[in-house]
Amino acid sequence: MQENKQKMKGNRTFTMIKPDAVAKSYTTAILKQITDAGFKIVAMKMTQMSRRDAERFYAVHKERPFFDELVEFMSSGPIVAAVLEKENAVEDFRTLIGSTNPAEAAEGTIRKLYAESVGKNAVHGSDSDENAAIEIAFHFAGREIF
Ligand code: ATP
Ligand code: MG
Repeated sequence: MQENKQKMKGNRTFTMIKPDAVAKSYTTAILKQITDAGFKIVAMKMTQMSRRDAERFYAVHKERPFFDELVEFMSSGPIVAAVLEKENAVEDFRTLIGSTNPAEAAEGTIRKLYAESVGKNAVHGSDSDENAAIEIAFHFAGREIF
């Protein structure tokens, strides 16, 4: 049972297609790249975070100089939030999206292809299994995950 639970955790990550990429109609191209890379979408919705939501979601960054800009941007328009399933989901998804700064992102990564700057960088990906679970619960009720 414990072992099964661990396995499930490692199989899921959380992503958001950020307001910049949704506004530019990159949503379907990004989703195709994600599913072509072997991720299964087990939950998805278009939604918009309030300032308060964005402050809570990115609370770990509240002391950083870019926090206000980040909260403003992430609440500026609709996002597409999704839960993705794949073996080694968190790490493999971080590889697929590339470095935070698109100028440093590897060729072919989602950020290299679709991000415009370190702030407006097209997609979010959870950075650990623990944070994936927290972020999934932030955006989705259990009955919305399949
Ligand atoms: P994310 O958490 O969105 O997947 P990340 O894990 O690659 O991105 P973090 O260090 O967690 O990067 O930063 C969170 C977000 O804050 C970044 O994706 C970016 O939108 C914004 N950000 C990070 N560094 C800067 C910066 N120097 N200037 C402006 N915005 C930044
Ligand atoms: Mg992060």
